[in-house]
Amino acid sequence: MQVPFLDLKTQYQSIKHEIDPAIHNILENSSFILGKAVFNFEEEFAKAHEVKHCIAVNSGTAGNHIALWAAGIGSGDEVIIPANTFIATAWGATLCGAKPVFVDCEKDSYNIDPGKAEEAITPKTKAIVAVHLYGQPANMNPLKEIADKHNLLLVEDSAQAHFAEYMGKKVGGLGEISSFSFYPGKNLGAYGEGGAVLTSSDEIAKKAKMIRDHGALQKYQHEIFGHNYRMEGIQGAVLGVKLKYINQWTDARRKNAERYNYHLSGIPQIKLPAEMPYAKHVYHLYVIQVLGNNSHSNAGLRDELAEHLVKSGISVGFHYPVPLHLQKCFDYLGYKKGDFPMSEQLAETGISLPMFPELTEEQIVYVAQQIKLFFENKEEKFSSYIHAAQV
Ligand SMILES: *Cc1c(COP(=O)(O)O)cnc(C)c1O
Repeated sequence: MQVPFLDLKTQYQSIKHEIDPAIHNILENSSFILGKAVFNFEEEFAKAHEVKHCIAVNSGTAGNHIALWAAGIGSGDEVIIPANTFIATAWGATLCGAKPVFVDCEKDSYNIDPGKAEEAITPKTKAIVAVHLYGQPANMNPLKEIADKHNLLLVEDSAQAHFAEYMGKKVGGLGEISSFSFYPGKNLGAYGEGGAVLTSSDEIAKKAKMIRDHGALQKYQHEIFGHNYRMEGIQGAVLGVKLKYINQWTDARRKNAERYNYHLSGIPQIKLPAEMPYAKHVYHLYVIQVLGNNSHSNAGLRDELAEHLVKSGISVGFHYPVPLHLQKCFDYLGYKKGDFPMSEQLAETGISLPMFPELTEEQIVYVAQQIKLFFENKEEKFSSYIHAAQV
């Protein structure tokens, strides 16, 4: 059996009858950049999050950058960021000329540890970026308290957590400003690059809109520095169609996670993802940790399991194999191995199993069977080794 990591084609087939005319309409009207489809999507996306403004941009990375830029983060400032995230979270700070300050993640949620974030605050700290990693909301209330106490901006990187909820409220509307990615593989994905910024601040929204379009609100009247971060019309049209299905797809992801949890229960060598009590997890990724057991060395066990799964026709991923503080591009910050043990452990033991709404129960059962088989074979080899040693 083949189990892909994700399957965008099957999803496209299910909505082709709506997508094709929506794209055709953009072609007929030549509304290639921004335009009505994009503005409609902005309105609906803002409304769904109960925030005043949505600014559609051309990637999640652009969203990360604009969020901090529009909020006035610049050189000399420090921005607190989890070490366990995708690199684009850090580009927001670095592209503004600010210094990223990394913080370890919690052992169960895998998100930024609020206590550690507070310890990292200096007089130069201006913002905390919380990432809702893998689809699980970060623990926003303690973060908000810390941000308020130290007068910091609280930013959400919601790239992996469309329509996830923290204490019943959708992420993306919890901090002052948030960014989303609509990269095709994300829970809500365009058919190309895409992203958005959400905020209820009129001032930040106005600046973000200007930055998106060369620092201008009126053509050729450049009030501030800017960039070209405009969303394409075709992506707005695709997202407008797909937005109607996000709840249905989220339900399917959650159902798949439940099935994984059931079929993978009772395997002592792995740790399953935890849904925190405050969270509605949307399972952008289903990440298990391969911890092995205490009786023998577990080094490389994750890689061996991954190899076994790939050989069995199952695609897997590592998210992320190198934590941000150990990336070469951040050598200048002076971090070293051992600084953030939980992020480093996850980099060595985490494995993302196939996860997408259209995944079937048969496929999930097969993945679970292969994982069990791998450990059974391991144990057999191990006990025959012990047996031989005793004889
Ligand atoms: C995908 C992602 C981004 C960047 O999004 P792009 O649209 O690919 O630029 C930013 N942050 C996180 C956490 C992501 O997963």
